[in-house]
Amino acid sequence: MFSVNKKILYIIVLPIILFFFVSCQNREYSASRLLLGTSVFIRVFEGGTEQALEDVFARVQKIEEEMSVSTDDYEQTILLDINRRSSQAASTLGLADIDYAKEEHTKVYELSEELATVIKEGLRISSMTDGAFDMTIASALRLWGFNSGESLVPSQRELDEALRLVDWSVVSVDQNKLRLGIGQSIDVGGIAKGYAADIVKKLLQEQGVKTAILDFGGNIVVFGQKKSKETWKIGIQKPYITDEIVAILSLAEGSVVTSGVYERYFEKDGKEYFHILDPKTGYPADNDLLSVTLVCDTSIQADGFSTGVFVLGLEKGLAFVEGEENLEAIFITREKTVVLSSGLKDKVELAAEEYSFAAVESSL
Ligand code: ADP
Ligand code: MG
Repeated sequence: MFSVNKKILYIIVLPIILFFFVSCQNREYSASRLLLGTSVFIRVFEGGTEQALEDVFARVQKIEEEMSVSTDDYEQTILLDINRRSSQAASTLGLADIDYAKEEHTKVYELSEELATVIKEGLRISSMTDGAFDMTIASALRLWGFNSGESLVPSQRELDEALRLVDWSVVSVDQNKLRLGIGQSIDVGGIAKGYAADIVKKLLQEQGVKTAILDFGGNIVVFGQKKSKETWKIGIQKPYITDEIVAILSLAEGSVVTSGVYERYFEKDGKEYFHILDPKTGYPADNDLLSVTLVCDTSIQADGFSTGVFVLGLEKGLAFVEGEENLEAIFITREKTVVLSSGLKDKVELAAEEYSFAAVESSL
């Protein structure tokens, strides 16, 4: 009697457990945390486990702890320490006496492996964009105070002084050693989110995640295929309006990163100042663009090139992107036009009435 009951119980319970197990495996899950100065959102469609996301966030936190230069958030990070020592190294010399052609006017610092990777990639992007992307912009950026509550327009004299220290070509990375001109500072804010997104993708895939979307405050990475087999649809934000979009991009896999004037800005005497600086002037990159969206297989490149291409502006930026096989771009201009690189012509749909497509002659 008892044994029969047990059998029946097994027959009933086992499929329930199995069903539960299978449905757990297929369940979508998501989580978000405030990291790298933004909201980091991970949504998994297939594979991995929800608990494992904790390790992933911990890893992003570690990246932040090494790479942040925000003195509001950190007393000490590897990069803050290097930047401080570099400015101390210059304190005995007058700015006018600094000559980076002299080896004694440079100094070598120890980097973590991750920082070495990021800075090396940043230097490659600088060289490719002819210095439009330049991590040594840190000296000028600091004067604007975008990362603190106290933003201000620096004087021309202060900017001119800071610009003497802005020159990516002085910087080099050999293994884990960073050579920096004395007085120079490094800011990896233009690529750190992209780097972190690439690492998160790698970690998730190692944990068995097949399909997911990562959103690092607009730095998007998508991989795997949704059950519907549809391509991913990614909304390109309407400048200044967080919950509206200008266009929809269809993408099978890769990263999409936007640099826009509206991400971090302040107003002074009726003029807007935003956080992407032109390394030639030390001022916000003054051109006709509201945003540039870069599409690339890796997020670190999409991130760095979105900042660099923004600085290059529409014509030069488009010419640059057209010359790179692995890069595509969407430009949004102040005249409310949307300009696409040739590889995106059939992949972008407009989603706002007041915007229209425009063709532009790219020029270098
Ligand atoms: P966000 O950080 O808002 O996503 P971006 O990826 O465009 O935007 O990066 C802007 C950040 O990059 C700035 O906050 C600053 O840290 C850094 N930055 C600004 N101008 C430059 C530049 N010309 N080259 C390299 N980095 C820059
Ligand atoms: Mg960027």
